Amino acid sequence: VKKEWHVALRVIDKIEKSGFEAVIVGGAVRDYLLQRPVNDVDVATNALPTEIKGIFTSTVDVGIEHGTVLVLDEGEPIEVTTYRTDGTYSDYRRPEEVAFVRNLEDDLQRRDFTINAMAFTKEGKIIDLFGGKEDIDKKLIRAVGNPNVRFREDALRMLRAIRFCAQLGFSIEEETLKAIQVDSDLIDFIANERISMELAKIWKSKYVYYGLQTLIETNLSKFLVGQFAEQLEHWRIFKAGKPVVGWAYLCLLNRQEFQNIADFYRLSNREKTYIRKVLNAFDALRQNWTAMDYFTNELEVLETAYDFARWQNIGLPFKKEKIREIKNNLPLQAIDQLAINGNHLMSWTTRKKGPWIKVALDAATIAVLNGYVENDEEKLKEWFINDFINEG
Ligand code: ATP
Ligand code: MG
Repeated sequence: VKKEWHVALRVIDKIEKSGFEAVIVGGAVRDYLLQRPVNDVDVATNALPTEIKGIFTSTVDVGIEHGTVLVLDEGEPIEVTTYRTDGTYSDYRRPEEVAFVRNLEDDLQRRDFTINAMAFTKEGKIIDLFGGKEDIDKKLIRAVGNPNVRFREDALRMLRAIRFCAQLGFSIEEETLKAIQVDSDLIDFIANERISMELAKIWKSKYVYYGLQTLIETNLSKFLVGQFAEQLEHWRIFKAGKPVVGWAYLCLLNRQEFQNIADFYRLSNREKTYIRKVLNAFDALRQNWTAMDYFTNELEVLETAYDFARWQNIGLPFKKEKIREIKNNLPLQAIDQLAINGNHLMSWTTRKKGPWIKVALDAATIAVLNGYVENDEEKLKEWFINDFINEG
């Protein structure tokens, strides 16, 4: 078990010694039962935020209006949240106000799915009021309570259900699935940033294809930007370690919609730059990469473009491992490795300083990369005088 789990238990112990109650809740309990790596360990307590701040010497307010205090216990950070209910909902969105409550049952009841609504006590007992363990065994995502009510309270939960399908390979329980199909249009009320965060988690998941299949089956895909139903097959063997690869692949499959996708999912400039690079490398790969393509693109960009071709069943005449090999064996790794610079050129001609210098250096780079001339001062001088000047 991860270190955070021990920190959580130590924090719980301290809270209980002060006369309150505390448990580990939510995703950490689910992942513990599934023997999956835990993302973050959350502690819930009947102590109020001010009471938590009284118990620990070092705390940070991270969301006090939602009852969350970040406790730095012996330097280790852990989020402690007061038991709460979510008050009233409007506009199918998460409520702004919450109400603190003193019992765990109410707190577990507000949680989205049975597998996320369990608690773990200091003694190692699992508190499971809604059949979460059974649903883990059956590999089911089931809403806590009436699914339509729960999705009308917060429509993002529908997309969270898909995300858990993609992460865990679970299916959505029948009534829960029907409720999403009925209410899928409510996803329009959800802020794009929140939608984007769930999709980003889907891209990194183990079962992306299955998740997208479920996204389509629930009708949710109709309310998102990008053609999903039409292109499902292209996602069959998709696999990404980071969200931006998913965004890039979505852009590749929806080329004309690049701008819409970037806007709708609120992609950052960094992400957009990366996506453009990968798409360009993908296009270049279709005519086979030149030495210049290998030179200008980072290995990771080339490998991602290669994966894109593979995922789309585009025939590739070489193995992925070749990319690194070819790139490492280029006569130049970086522009500053060229054996000559502008001063050399100036000394070899009577021409005045001007834009031609950059043109000549670029041409020299290409000539070296293509193996036409060695990266050597004397050889480049010959090339410059015989080929560059004479050819114009
Ligand atoms: P992850 O592994 O991504 O952290 P998680 O289940 O911990 O998954 P979080 O978004 O971190 O998900 O939320 C923590 C817990 O808070 C959930 O397990 C669930 O109990 C509850 N929760 C989160 N979002 C909602 C929501 N929109 N509606 C109801 N409960 C929610
Ligand atoms: Mg979590």
